[in-house]
Amino acid sequence: MSSDPFSSVELAPADAIFALTAAFKADSTSDKINLGAGAYRTNEGKPWVLPVVKKASDIIANDETLDHEYLPIAGLPSFYNAGAKLILGEGSKALKEGRVASTQTISGTGANHLGAAFLKRFYPFPSGKAQIYISNPTWMNHHAIFKNVGIEPVTYPYYDPATVGLDFEGYKASLNAAEDGSVFLIHGCAHNPTGVDPTPAQWSEIIEILLRKKHFAFLDCAYQGFASGDLDKDAAAVREMEARNVPLLVCQSFSKNAGLYSERVGALHLVSPTTTETPILVSQLALLQRSEISNPPAWGARVVSLILNDEKMFQQWKEEIQVMAGRIKEMRSEMRRRLEELGTPGTWEHVTKQIGMFSYTGLTTPQVKILVEEHHIYLTNNGRISMAGLNTGNIERFTKAVDAVVRASAKQ
Ligand code: PMP
Repeated sequence: MSSDPFSSVELAPADAIFALTAAFKADSTSDKINLGAGAYRTNEGKPWVLPVVKKASDIIANDETLDHEYLPIAGLPSFYNAGAKLILGEGSKALKEGRVASTQTISGTGANHLGAAFLKRFYPFPSGKAQIYISNPTWMNHHAIFKNVGIEPVTYPYYDPATVGLDFEGYKASLNAAEDGSVFLIHGCAHNPTGVDPTPAQWSEIIEILLRKKHFAFLDCAYQGFASGDLDKDAAAVREMEARNVPLLVCQSFSKNAGLYSERVGALHLVSPTTTETPILVSQLALLQRSEISNPPAWGARVVSLILNDEKMFQQWKEEIQVMAGRIKEMRSEMRRRLEELGTPGTWEHVTKQIGMFSYTGLTTPQVKILVEEHHIYLTNNGRISMAGLNTGNIERFTKAVDAVVRASAKQ
């Protein structure tokens, strides 16, 4: 054996988003703009500790009854049970019938991973082929998460560059063409990276096909409340699927809607087909979790548990979610208004039609390159911007730069 067992290991590419943030930080220009990372910023361009999170954190810090003992393997029950109610709704049939197997996870990423590992081990994939259909495009990490557990990601059409909207016909054709019982990863709301969601009527059609084809819905919900400002509205598609008995699991994250990014607060909710199976599924999820992380971290889960289980704090949280979603919506209107006022070539209606943290602007990779290199405006190569990075102080400079770049390429 060679004395260096790692000599053939190749340098891995840097993560696109984290690399962009690093480049932004290294840029010494004073009016640089970061529209890369998907994290909320105030109108002053600062991260926001939600006041309700601060309040809950203070209560926990001063609670003498709490200690640093391990949580149970599945996590904090008062957290994941309230989390299940938040996403599936008070009226959820599965919850009433004791058919939800919940596990606290390392935020939404961990929920995706645990869900993937569980399916790899137990799901009867059609023709024995472990595959998952993911939208084209999707959150980049989905590809790696499924490959890591031996599930092959295959894409289904989702985004139509011609309309900067949903390729609904292509999406439906894929649902119909896939073998019965296939697994489809579906963003519950505020699709990342496009910001393009199906309309309620389109959701109903999607659900019809899922049911007819007996497909399994792997629902990723990283933006509940953050999209429309209303927790219930953003959960509507998930709840309709559950009510109509689509086989499903839900990955839940509190990174964005509670601004708890680094605390890694999330949960996996697997809807069990029967009540008697629930404890069996719970036990297998626990077995998997034990081998990977033993048990999840307590702090963030305690914070969210307090907020979800206290009526006053819950109310305050809802108001604070509206502040975040409202500011983002204002920036959408303002961006569109300014580009239309400047007469920037192209149409800009999609900016206000899209929803959530991101907008797929339709800007091309060469245009993005000029924005980054010449205008010090940082966004990903696919033209995605985080709306939260815009504010009343930088939107004029941003829209003027977009105008200049689009005009220059229109001339070529
Ligand atoms: N799913 C999607 C679609 C996301 O956009 C994100 C965050 N970017 C996540 C899951 C996971 O985020 P976290 O692990 O911070 O909850």
